Amino acid sequence: MSEYQQIVLASRPRGTPTEDNFRIENAQIPIPTDGQVLVRTLYLSLDPYMRGRMNDAKSYAAPVNIGGVMEGEVVAVVTESRHADYRVGDVVQGRIGWRTHAAVAPTVLKRVDTRGNALTTALGVLGMPGFTAYSGMTVIGQPKPGETVVVAAASGPVGSLVGQLAQLAGARAVGIAGGPTKCAYLRDELKFDGVVDHRSADMAGDLAKLCPDGIDVYFENVGGAIWQAVLPLLNRYARVPACGVIAYYNGPGSAEEGLLSQTMTAIVRQSLQIRGFINTEFVDRYYSDFLNELAPKVAAGEIRYREDIVDGLQEAPKAFIGMLAGRNFGKLLVKVG
Ligand code: NDP
Repeated sequence: MSEYQQIVLASRPRGTPTEDNFRIENAQIPIPTDGQVLVRTLYLSLDPYMRGRMNDAKSYAAPVNIGGVMEGEVVAVVTESRHADYRVGDVVQGRIGWRTHAAVAPTVLKRVDTRGNALTTALGVLGMPGFTAYSGMTVIGQPKPGETVVVAAASGPVGSLVGQLAQLAGARAVGIAGGPTKCAYLRDELKFDGVVDHRSADMAGDLAKLCPDGIDVYFENVGGAIWQAVLPLLNRYARVPACGVIAYYNGPGSAEEGLLSQTMTAIVRQSLQIRGFINTEFVDRYYSDFLNELAPKVAAGEIRYREDIVDGLQEAPKAFIGMLAGRNFGKLLVKVG
């Protein structure tokens, strides 16, 4: 065979991609130059992030150009080598895209290391998705014994590992998936403690029943209606590793959802760390430091402030309503006495 195939982005999708957005191309198998190897793809990983690469939009990675080969990671075998460190038959992985062959410098490759497991695991449970679950749970989720961990897209490579890591940490794992087959897999094979079908008539109610003590870790893979169902159940100090929001990848369904989509997408793409608090949480530790440091500065005029004082308690409602409309200018106070 002297021809190889590759799949390029033919056009950018509007909403859900169609086959017309892709084009299969045939070309002569390239000949590696000095320092390169020729690899033949064994497995190509298809992952949700690829939908983002089809858009010409600012993101954490550049989009695929029109006519460009679709991006993706593969496991491949070296079929020709002009590099001293690689021999024919070596099995490697790397982001060479949706193509059957490529002549590349090995700097874009690494040797597959699955410690005796199937080659395919290099693209799944022991590859990028698995590491995503592992790192998100270790660094952010930090499940503790007895806590409740919820994850959606739970039968996929990220979610299924999230649930299992939760259980290894002694937490309860509640998985959300679409349809009875996926739910049965989570319940019967992965032994999740609870399973919710997000296509059920009352997904939010089903989830609440399975989380009587609330949710301590929500590993966010989806967004959309699932996030809305999770939000009221989150406990104080719950952790939310914001990993992905696949519900929005084809675009938000409504203008309102668009705002939530922008917010959640920014949280994921910019690795934003959002930690809520109520000041009372810190009073015991910091209040005396605060007064000791700032009161002298206020007294010395080094810290300035402005007050907006209305006269008479009867003015309070109007002042308050005015404040909500921005009509106060400085700290709003009512002079009562
Ligand atoms: P999966 O193999 O689980 O595939 C995606 C699944 O998402 C689908 O099978 C479907 O499962 C579910 N899904 C899609 N749309 C919806 C929706 N509207 N509501 C509910 N569920 C939906 O994917 P991965 O395990 O590879 O990835 C899971 C998430 O992790 C994605 O958001 C992905 O972008 C993100 N990710 C993030 C990474 C990072 O570094 N931050 C790296 C890797 C992945 P079902 O039928 O159960 O609904």
